[in-house]
Amino acid sequence: MKIGRRYKDSRKKGNAHPSTELRMSVGRVRMSVSRSRMSVGRVRMSVSRSRVSVGRVRMSVSRSRMSVSRIIQILRKTYPDAECALHHDDPLQLLVATILSAQCTDKRVNRVTPALFKKYPNAKSFAEANLKELEQDIHSTGFYKNKAKAIKGCCQLILVNHGGQVPKTLEELVHLPGIGRKTANVVLGVAFGVPGIVVDTHVKRLTYRMGLTKQTDPEKIEREMMEIIPKKDWTDFGLLLIAHGRAICEARKPKCEICPLNRLCPKVGI
Ligand code: SF4
Repeated sequence: MKIGRRYKDSRKKGNAHPSTELRMSVGRVRMSVSRSRMSVGRVRMSVSRSRVSVGRVRMSVSRSRMSVSRIIQILRKTYPDAECALHHDDPLQLLVATILSAQCTDKRVNRVTPALFKKYPNAKSFAEANLKELEQDIHSTGFYKNKAKAIKGCCQLILVNHGGQVPKTLEELVHLPGIGRKTANVVLGVAFGVPGIVVDTHVKRLTYRMGLTKQTDPEKIEREMMEIIPKKDWTDFGLLLIAHGRAICEARKPKCEICPLNRLCPKVGI
């Protein structure tokens, strides 16, 4: 009785017979099963596509590795004496000279540092320096207020936390005031022989032009280069690119016609 009424009610509302409903539900289940199969198929396709992309990425990384070793080989022949252009006798002097080299030529820094290092021979003397006097001593290198503050603050921390000696790890160096990854990697590579990739304005420009990276952020470039350059070549890579950036691949007018990398280089953005 109840069922009959329900059936009647359902017919009134235009709904299907229970058996039809059952068939429809079976149909829906089948459809959803076949949809699931389709989705599984799609997932399989996307997995296999991902495998292809991973393969492509691996290939492109190995290609980058190939070309980067060739680039290093050619640049080593072209610049056999590539080295840090900042004059220094110890890690502290290199640290101070690198701070001074921001937005300034190495030549100008080298003109200022002999007298500076004579006046301030160690971390203690820089830490205790009169700030105004230090500003005047480095005035010609530009941004002298910030640089003087960084040198003094840096040497105070070196004195207190590291017994007056420049620390030898990237983590400790970047905790010093005014010291970024670029300066830290210069000090590590040049003064301590610890491999590090320096990404300054030359390295940033050249890695982009050579198609080694699409990144513009120095830290991201550094990380990408660490992936494709053997660790033993990290320090040389920076020094060689800086030498090449100064001699041939200049910012405004790269001399591609006489560049030894001409055949390898895609000249991105030129
Ligand atoms: S070919 Fe041109 S763009 Fe490429 S590294 Fe040489 S100078 Fe720079």
